[in-house]
Amino acid sequence: MTVFEHKGKLLIVDCGVLFPEETQPGINVILPDFSAIRGRLQDIEAIVLTHGHEDHIGGVPYLLRERKDIPIIGSELTLAFLSAKMEEHRIVPRLVQVKEGQRRKAGPFDLEFLAVNHSIPDGLAIAIRTEAGLVLATGDFKMDQFPLDNRLTDLPGFARLGEEGVDLFMTDSTNAEVPGFTMTEEDIRPAIDSVFRTAPRRIIVSSFASHVHRIQQVIDAAARHNRKVAFVGRSMVRNMAIAEKLGFLKVPKGLIVDVKAFDRMKDDKVVLICTGSQGEPMAALSRMANREHQIKIGEGDTVLLASSLIPGNENSIYRVINGLTRWGANVVHKGNARVHVSGHASAGELVYCYNLVKPKNVMPIHGEWRHLKANGELAVRTGIPEEQVLIVEDGVVVDLIDGLARITGRVACELVFVDGMTGNGGVTVGSGATEEALADRLQLSNDGAVTILGILDTRTGVLTEPVEFIARGFVQDREWIAGATKSIDDALRAANKIKIVDGPELEEIFTQSVTRWTQRKYRRIPVITSVVVDA
Ligand SMILES: [Zn+2]
Repeated sequence: MTVFEHKGKLLIVDCGVLFPEETQPGINVILPDFSAIRGRLQDIEAIVLTHGHEDHIGGVPYLLRERKDIPIIGSELTLAFLSAKMEEHRIVPRLVQVKEGQRRKAGPFDLEFLAVNHSIPDGLAIAIRTEAGLVLATGDFKMDQFPLDNRLTDLPGFARLGEEGVDLFMTDSTNAEVPGFTMTEEDIRPAIDSVFRTAPRRIIVSSFASHVHRIQQVIDAAARHNRKVAFVGRSMVRNMAIAEKLGFLKVPKGLIVDVKAFDRMKDDKVVLICTGSQGEPMAALSRMANREHQIKIGEGDTVLLASSLIPGNENSIYRVINGLTRWGANVVHKGNARVHVSGHASAGELVYCYNLVKPKNVMPIHGEWRHLKANGELAVRTGIPEEQVLIVEDGVVVDLIDGLARITGRVACELVFVDGMTGNGGVTVGSGATEEALADRLQLSNDGAVTILGILDTRTGVLTEPVEFIARGFVQDREWIAGATKSIDDALRAANKIKIVDGPELEEIFTQSVTRWTQRKYRRIPVITSVVVDA
């Protein structure tokens, strides 16, 4: 989520979610921190969406819960994907549909939209004109010269804005470390065809539920090889119905059938398309790998993972591949066949853009620190002064004044965790899912927990019985118990000296002394809690 401010008004570009990693147990999605704008919701003129990926639109329902009538500006497909999501949250959003080539005002922000090519159709770059200067934000993009939908990234538009004078250019950094040019989507057709030619039984394709271009390739291959296609999984069924209805997915008549019809069809005549290519535990593919799905994977089935492997997901994905191969499936993925091309511009494309746009200032966006850094270095190589290339992380404030961009501050910017299941309003945001709670979960899973139980005579400040230790997942041997007991005795003696005989205060003191002692002696930190009751 990027917030632009001009003349006291705010413009938000994209509002996405992050997905949790293995170090974030029990977390569903991660939201941007709205606290910096929470007191100024009425100043927001609009939310502009560059494209329909979850990491760009997934946070919108949560922001709209705080102010329902914020206008949302985006392309046809982006808004259609967003609306479907909003229905689950029971919010009717105020949508403003735009397309490439159009201009539109949102308060003091004069917006222009340019076509960009990405792994989802209908993506837009956004030019923002204000009295302070001209900003061009690419969103996620690449420069595929042979895209399936013939919609090229609008390089003439980029060049025209460059002539006008781009003061701040914000570019997609995801693939900045990758040399050369991203291959065209067309290049993977032979590999997909080869899967279809050689698969002896069913083909199960797993991809993102928004990857319309890739699913188009699978549908085309199915048509060429006389197989019927069924979509499996709520988000996949929903998004593909939307994409087909709006004409972004071209499906021959009769090709798509309900998955139930497969019972009556021969295995070498069917293709299943489902989600779960990142090893997400609740998605169809993971459940198939665990035999928890109605589709039972067996000998001769071919599974095609037709998508990227997002860093951080490797373990989950390999677990799924292991599960599938254990049941006898042949798994084809980007590691063993050319079945994926990236949706992001590589270094060569980014350099082209810098030379075309000739921006005064550059701010790499989208990607981890190393990607931002690599992208910044490309900008410098094209002659942009190093001090005009701003590598900034979330929460950093940048001012653009008189054509000069400068880092000027920082706003609160924590990860906001959503616990439990989304949808139907049954979501806890913040409560019970703070960074502190997450740290506790990790600590619990690593080192377990110990509860200290003490019975105290509050008149004398003496424990009437020896303290008890109740441990979960922490191995307490005799030596530990002896040491912990001693550290409590010491702490109690010290507390008595300064006349502390209050239960809650003693609980805190016990917890701290045992935690410190355990950490020093064992280099482990179980979650330690104390309960002190009156005798
Ligand atoms: Zn994207």
